[in-house]
Amino acid sequence: RRKWKKVANVLKELEEGCDTSVGRLRQVVDAMAVEMHAGLASEGGSKLKMLLTYVDNLPNGTEKGPYYALHLGGTNFRVTRVHLSGQPSPLLEHEVERQPIPPHLMTSTSEDLFDFIASSLKEFIAKEGDGSNTSQDRRELGFTFSFPMKQMSVSSGILIKWTKGFSIVDMVGRDVVACLQEAFVRKGLDVHVAALVNDTVGTLAVGHYHDPDTVAAIVIGTGTNACYLERIDAIIKCQGLLTTSGRMVVNMEWGNFWSSHLPRTPYDIELDAESPNPNDQGFEKMISGMYLGDVVRRVILRMSLESDMLFGPISTKLSTPFVLRTPLMAAMHEDDSPDLIEVARILNDTFEIPDVPLKARKIVVKVCDVVTRRAARLAAAGIVGILKKIGRDGSGGITGGRSRSDIKMKRTVVAIEGGLYSSYTLFREYLHEALNEILGEDIAKHVTLNVTEDGSGIGAALLAASYS
Ligand code: ADP
Repeated sequence: RRKWKKVANVLKELEEGCDTSVGRLRQVVDAMAVEMHAGLASEGGSKLKMLLTYVDNLPNGTEKGPYYALHLGGTNFRVTRVHLSGQPSPLLEHEVERQPIPPHLMTSTSEDLFDFIASSLKEFIAKEGDGSNTSQDRRELGFTFSFPMKQMSVSSGILIKWTKGFSIVDMVGRDVVACLQEAFVRKGLDVHVAALVNDTVGTLAVGHYHDPDTVAAIVIGTGTNACYLERIDAIIKCQGLLTTSGRMVVNMEWGNFWSSHLPRTPYDIELDAESPNPNDQGFEKMISGMYLGDVVRRVILRMSLESDMLFGPISTKLSTPFVLRTPLMAAMHEDDSPDLIEVARILNDTFEIPDVPLKARKIVVKVCDVVTRRAARLAAAGIVGILKKIGRDGSGGITGGRSRSDIKMKRTVVAIEGGLYSSYTLFREYLHEALNEILGEDIAKHVTLNVTEDGSGIGAALLAASYS
């Protein structure tokens, strides 16, 4: 039938548009390494901001005492307390409380947002009971703030711009820590913000605490970002930096990475144009949980427009941005029932399209697969880009001359976390597969991805301990 053919064509175009052959991924790897260089060479030299974090020493286990962390950066807001024993321990004793951020606060005023944060911390501390902590002196806290900031020191930084649906105009250009400390004063809290960190930096801190071979950290959740340990002398844009370790953690803000080699489709272009931040966060819009579901929705909408036979008349829901959340898209993708009952249910619940024929359900699963596979493989290419920049991709960039097999690869660990990686099995498998393909097995066996959990919270508390 002609209508099926039209749908098949849409799918075929999508597959071609989402090409992530190894050849193309290698181009993305190179582009990432090149952009990293450019971002380190001069301010504004690349879409990659390559932000200094002033974190030059990572926790090593000698930290001792209770430390706190707040995490603001995505769907959930978290408060964490970590009890450090003074000795490295494989299990870090900690408590976490999480709650969704009331959506109206994401676009309200900075006072409203920070008062909410301070109140949550106050309640958390109040619940400590009459244990040893009640008479404690000032508490030390790490604040994980996963938005691009220009840091002046490890405990101060100015918000450059909001991402991930946040938009509080009066905050841009202000010192995030000052705003938080003021809210603590308003709420009568005696808490000192010792470290201001991006979530990836927290993840790196925890990763490094558990495994000193950890050199980079990736977060793939609602948004996506990465950071890594760079040599000070490679940070050309900031001459005269001095650190005892000779290194500093650089927050890449890789969600904003862009390259003409990225496989971009008309759906991506549309999504970007209709977003509150067009031309920004291009990599993130192809990779992270906030967007994947909506890319899939756009493809299904297009298919419906081509063929009302398949999905029935266009429902208003199908034309509504972001109604298909990524976890639901993942559930359709991973539906292993023979009749794809889950797919039918979700299409009905989400888009109000009843009785989608099995053939169409199969196409929907395929669409999810194409979109997720591209995302996972691009994330893998990004990771290899970082490894290439620091000479850990086995290409022997620094040593030169030698053949691949001669190169002695150092064990290299990348800490990784975020809902997309940890909860979406097919995404994770595609990512690992692509890492192996790009690096080749000989090299890939020296590279380990270590999942950290709540690293952004625990890591911030660890850094508060190191820097207080
Ligand atoms: P944050 O919002 O701070 O990034 P997480 O790292 O936990 O928090 O990521 C949550 C995001 O991960 C969600 O917005 C969602 O997009 C994605 N996610 C969570 N669970 C799943 C899942 N089972 N399948 C696919 N994506 C998921």
